[in-house]
Amino acid sequence: MTVLIVGAGPTGLTAACALMQRGVPARVLDAAEGPATTSRALGVQPRGAEVINRVRALGDLPARGMNIGFVKAMAGGRALMTLRLEHLKGQGVLIGQSEIEKSLRDRLSELGGKVEWGTRVTDIAQDANGVTVRAGEPIEGDWLLGCDGAHSAVRKIAGIDFPGVPLTERFLLADVHMDWPLDRGGVTTWLGQSGMFAAFPLPGKDLWRIQGDFPGTGEVDVLAELEKMLPERTGLTARITSCDWTSSFTIHRRLAGTYRHGRVFLAGDAAHVHSPFSGQGMNTGIGDAENLAWKLAMVVNGRAGEQLLDTYEKERRPIAEEVLSGTTALTSFVLGMGAWRRILRDTVLLPLMNLPAAQRKLFDRTSQLAITYRRGPLGPHGDRDPEIAPRWTNGRWVITVPSENDPHVAVAQKHLGEDLLVETGPTVKLVRPDGHLAWQGRPSPARLEAWLRATLTT
Ligand SMILES: Cc1cc2nc3c(=O)[nH]c(=O)nc-3n(C[C@H](O)[C@H](O)[C@H](O)COP(=O)(O)OP(=O)(O)OC[C@H]3O[C@@H](n4cnc5c(N)ncnc54)[C@H](O)[C@@H]3O)c2cc1C
Repeated sequence: MTVLIVGAGPTGLTAACALMQRGVPARVLDAAEGPATTSRALGVQPRGAEVINRVRALGDLPARGMNIGFVKAMAGGRALMTLRLEHLKGQGVLIGQSEIEKSLRDRLSELGGKVEWGTRVTDIAQDANGVTVRAGEPIEGDWLLGCDGAHSAVRKIAGIDFPGVPLTERFLLADVHMDWPLDRGGVTTWLGQSGMFAAFPLPGKDLWRIQGDFPGTGEVDVLAELEKMLPERTGLTARITSCDWTSSFTIHRRLAGTYRHGRVFLAGDAAHVHSPFSGQGMNTGIGDAENLAWKLAMVVNGRAGEQLLDTYEKERRPIAEEVLSGTTALTSFVLGMGAWRRILRDTVLLPLMNLPAAQRKLFDRTSQLAITYRRGPLGPHGDRDPEIAPRWTNGRWVITVPSENDPHVAVAQKHLGEDLLVETGPTVKLVRPDGHLAWQGRPSPARLEAWLRATLTT
């Protein structure tokens, strides 16, 4: 059995590593001639870092990335809100997407896989037995994951719609080397009547990501416009010595009509796009990838029936819906569309966000550590397990029991075989390969058996 993965971005690479570490062969096809070298997404949220760690690709990214201690919102020359991250649990990393992708590619090659560059998928055919893609010549597989980004060819060929709306006008961004008197220990955002401006310190000497909203369409000299905006919106002067990359983007909010068409699945930007505010996109994509990959591995390895695959969309779509509504609200909040909204933001809402309880709530949401599948089809459990989730378990389930000859072990082993790690702990619990609690409760081998049977068998 082979899984074809279209797209070697963070989503496709995470899926490939998660499948290969479970012994499922994956072919990764990408239209580009080679790896992208530009930074693009910057923020690996704490949950994203855990996912990357669970496929053993985190490596030295935390050491090479920036450790962000605060996020500050300034207006009228004053800090209205400072979100302090040092004392909040969970470690994110600020580092360019190209570095994250490289780390995932290195892990993929360690697992015996590779990216087939210069392989653009232009057509897909499927029947009850498998999938054939046209990418120059036909390539056959058993399942196909469309991880080919916002303009996904897989989604279009599969006839899946992508309803939504454009949200804002244009944003300009640049990665620049510059001297200016700003603390590199965190992210600073300036909110003003003429627009917003943000600065993110990047690993590298004097390297910063700067970005701001920019009305209007048509060709524009991105760096020149940002150089003009910087003193106007921040009140600071800076000397830009060189520029590594510029880009401009508009924000859309879209969600695929379905995540599955037969043997074809969508994940990452192919399934959902939204505002980059609060850095959720890449993290949501790699979360999709892990969720789908462990389920597909169970099916391919004959440990579960195909109905398990339907739980992928049922668990992940509500997460994307929440990200879409949360990032849309945050974007209009930050941009302060309308005078009254700006006044409310600056005099009430931002100051309120200095309260520890508000900070905790904001962090829980943006870190993605509070993601739960409790209300999904595999509930009623489903919270992230804080003991197991941060660890690499080689894609396996974990059962903890008070002693190794506990009767729950034999039940779990019957269904999960070598895919199960047995550990001793005070309570009986079963944790899924993605670090979420599968089953817990009053000790009862019969009830564990019933849960496993209902979840895994056809
Ligand atoms: C300015 C900006 C800042 C951002 N900041 C953050 C952030 O801080 N945190 C965060 O989580 N997200 C952020 N994002 C979003 C993030 O970049 C995306 O969500 C992420 O890249 C999606 O990954 P993906 O693998 O799903 O798709 P992509 O990264 O788009 O990868 C798709 C891949 O598919 C390939 N492909 C396309 N068509 C075909 C085809 N027909 N055949 C074969 N291959 C094909 C492409 O070459 C590409 O390699 C940001 C985005 C922007 C624009």
